[in-house]
Amino acid sequence: MTSRSRDRRRIVERLGAASRVLLVLHVRPDGDSIGSTLAMARALRVLGKAAEVVAPDPIPPNLAFVPGADRVVGAGATRGSFDTALFLDCASLDRIGGATADLERAGPILNVDHHSSNQRYGAVNYIEPHAAACGEVTYDLIRALGVALDPEIAMGLYVAIVTDTGSFRYQSVTARTHRIAAQLLGLGVRPAEVGRQVWDSRTLASVRLEAAALTTLVQEGELAWMDVTPPMLAESGAAAYETEGLVNLPRSLEGVEVAVLFSDEGRGEVRVSLRSARRVDVSAIAVRLGGGGHARAAGCTLRMSLAQAHDAVLTAARAALR
Ligand code: AMP
Ligand code: MN
Ligand code: MN
Repeated sequence: MTSRSRDRRRIVERLGAASRVLLVLHVRPDGDSIGSTLAMARALRVLGKAAEVVAPDPIPPNLAFVPGADRVVGAGATRGSFDTALFLDCASLDRIGGATADLERAGPILNVDHHSSNQRYGAVNYIEPHAAACGEVTYDLIRALGVALDPEIAMGLYVAIVTDTGSFRYQSVTARTHRIAAQLLGLGVRPAEVGRQVWDSRTLASVRLEAAALTTLVQEGELAWMDVTPPMLAESGAAAYETEGLVNLPRSLEGVEVAVLFSDEGRGEVRVSLRSARRVDVSAIAVRLGGGGHARAAGCTLRMSLAQAHDAVLTAARAALR
């Protein structure tokens, strides 16, 4: 038995024995965090366990349709205690923001993830770095727990997988990713409806933010980058979470290997999103700057000015491209 399958078995045993589970979303929760966690919370409830989901940041409106999202509570709002804490899709403990208060009333942490940069902060750590989404890992765990997939679980898992794979486009996608998705469609998931909710329900403000950010787009050979600045956010009226996905604009340019989005929300820090096409390990760049992620998608938050962040990240990216 490999150490990874042993980790997996220990997670299943611990979840099977748990009776009150606290599930924690990561900061700025994305489709994988929300979908995996809500699917697992539902599966645990099917098994007769109490399961509560806490979110350090609000669920974005385009993901509020995922079943169970209406029961998610904000940081510090859980009551009572939990014998187990479960983290899905969370690479490090500093990614849970204000939910640390809730965690103080919970038992040992079970850490289930697919980030290669995962810091193994749990009592049990089960990391599948080749999984295209934590949703794939969650699918396996729910099956191993003996829970029959139902339409609600299927929707959570599908949202997790379709968002983290860029709609089945990224290098991490395998035949198995599609087989799992096919099964979820068999349980009633309608991809067109999910797509409309997740990507085609944008606010006019978010499109205006994109237009403003595009005026800063620079391509330098295989490197491209773009900025979001406080005046852009103020003038467009877009919310900070609406920068999600903007890194796909530099990423989509022909010949670009490394794409970067610099997002300065006027709080004395710059959020950096990094993407690569096929060869550069952007998680190595992000980790060196205090962040994390995957080889093809990573990020970090830098407490410095936009100009300093440009300097730090672009220097590292140019070196990685040489
Ligand atoms: P994003 O660019 O925000 O979509 O994030 C891409 C990937 O990088 C995700 O898998 C995140 O988990 C990871 N990531 C982003 N920001 C950070 C950060 N500050 N620290 C650690 N990992 C991060
Ligand atoms: Mn995530
Ligand atoms: Mn993920």
